[in-house]
Amino acid sequence: MSDRDVTISRLGINRRDFMKYCTATATAMGLSTSVAPRIAAAITSPNRPPVIWLHGQECTGCTESLLRPSHPTLDHLILDLISLDYHETLSAGAGHQAEHFLQESVKANKGKFILVIEGAVPVKDGGIYCQVGGKPFLDTVKELGPQAAAVIAIGSCASWGGIQSAPPNPTGATGVPAVLKDIPVVTIPGCPPHPQNFLSTVIHFLTFKKLPALDDKGRPLFAYGRLIHENCERRPHFDAGRFATSFGSEGHRLGYCLFKLGCKGPITHANCPSILFCEVGSGAWPVGTGHPCFGCVEEDVAFKVPLFTQAYINNPTPAAGQPSVVQERESGVTTGGAALAGAAVGIAVGASMMAGKKAADRQDDEE
Ligand code: SF4
Repeated sequence: MSDRDVTISRLGINRRDFMKYCTATATAMGLSTSVAPRIAAAITSPNRPPVIWLHGQECTGCTESLLRPSHPTLDHLILDLISLDYHETLSAGAGHQAEHFLQESVKANKGKFILVIEGAVPVKDGGIYCQVGGKPFLDTVKELGPQAAAVIAIGSCASWGGIQSAPPNPTGATGVPAVLKDIPVVTIPGCPPHPQNFLSTVIHFLTFKKLPALDDKGRPLFAYGRLIHENCERRPHFDAGRFATSFGSEGHRLGYCLFKLGCKGPITHANCPSILFCEVGSGAWPVGTGHPCFGCVEEDVAFKVPLFTQAYINNPTPAAGQPSVVQERESGVTTGGAALAGAAVGIAVGASMMAGKKAADRQDDEE
């Protein structure tokens, strides 16, 4: 059995599905599908890069999201792709034994290991507010960062401080890029981030021996290059002026745009509406389930801008790929007009209070 066959059988899928996955990964990274065989070779290589995974101020939600996807292939892929040498939550060893192994692994793999950091780094008072192994986390990050082949800050906490950095930020929590200023740090923000974005970044590094193209905040452009608002399935409602104005209102139940409920999709860069979560099909992301995006990947938005504050719209023009909103207007009767007419008739004939309230609700939801 070849290395590739061994990996594929461990994943519990057939060769065709494996190649489909490699092709989909290439596409998700904005690459030609012709690189799929190279991705397949990197994934099935027996030379798995050592990974040291540190935890600072965080909830371990990023690890949970990586290891508990609803589809088993993702977590198998992650654990097959890398050699997880040190992980404070998953390691079997503990205490001095684990810390000793960390030092040994760093010594043996200097310049070759991938350092993944989960959680914010508190820098106030010499970093005393987060200590692991009797040592400030700040010192460990500064010590290991320069020795790694690549540094990945996973989650919003590691990327820019996350909820710990919300005012008044008593511990001086900040992100890894602010601590390792002289080293390129890939950031995969999200609360939690999508496992596929982490996996694609690692696959890119293994396949091409270099990091993917990044934006000015260290985020891979293939995942964070577009606004959520550009690809949101509720965008036709936004363009047509149909908004949910309260949770549970008729507009909310009909799937109208959540802008007036504080959706931060227009100022948030992420691929959530394209790759969705939990591999359960359409609608499986916060906005799809009826909750406004709260901008978890954006340093200046999440935990800083109040949930119900409306976002600033930079680009009100509909994206070219969105369905037209014109057809409805061509009929000469807008849904808003129909609702108003219904209300007038209802009042005139003394219809129930309920009918009037429903019409008022709908009028409120539409502009
Ligand atoms: S404002 Fe939010 S819900 Fe409305 S279209 Fe934009 S991203 Fe989607």
